[in-house]
Amino acid sequence: PFLEILSTAEQAQLKEMAEAFLGSKEFSSAGGLELTDEIYVSIAAQGCLPILKLGLGAYRDWVGIIVYPDEFVVRRHIEDESGVVHEYDDVLAGEAWAGGPLIVSWHDVKMAGDGYNVVIHEFAHKLDMLNGDADGIPALHSDLDASEWETIFFAAYDDFCARVDSGEETLIDPYASETPGEFFAVLSESFFEIPDVVAGEYPDLYDLLRRYYRQDPLARLTKAASASSTAAS
Ligand code: ZN
Repeated sequence: PFLEILSTAEQAQLKEMAEAFLGSKEFSSAGGLELTDEIYVSIAAQGCLPILKLGLGAYRDWVGIIVYPDEFVVRRHIEDESGVVHEYDDVLAGEAWAGGPLIVSWHDVKMAGDGYNVVIHEFAHKLDMLNGDADGIPALHSDLDASEWETIFFAAYDDFCARVDSGEETLIDPYASETPGEFFAVLSESFFEIPDVVAGEYPDLYDLLRRYYRQDPLARLTKAASASSTAAS
């Protein structure tokens, strides 16, 4: 439903891009899930929204998408400073491997719309990884420069971390305070799904993301709201 606020021209552009996307990616399933047209179209449409004005080339360095029916468990091995290896299970709704596939839970893909969007989240990690690590600094096009990005992005990140640390219940998913990479991925979800919240809390960051994605979801939302109030009156 959150794609309905796109203009007719944007929806046509998204459809065309989603078709090209489906032609260039390889889907596979795990956990006994049967892939359906609904799964292909949902992931392609949501995944292409962030790159609607950047072009499909932004997803050029990877091919595979693996879809699980629900959240999945990943076995982690972490070595601490004393050389002891700790093993634990991580339960995930999605994961993006550097240079490798993108993995999502279909159950979570269907939850899109209220500020939680696993597809946009993982695809944002892929944009971030296009120029190396998922560090919150994606490859910037000519409209933006790195020092401007770092100043605005990290000021917002530091502020958000302080709010989460102080125990505030934030509208933006507190998982964003984990790392700058997660902040970029979560704020990308929020930018497209709850742009009014991002613009209200972090106007400079909203403007930065608007210029990076070359889209203005808040303007779309405002336009859709005024159109529906006109229709009702
Ligand atoms: Zn993430």
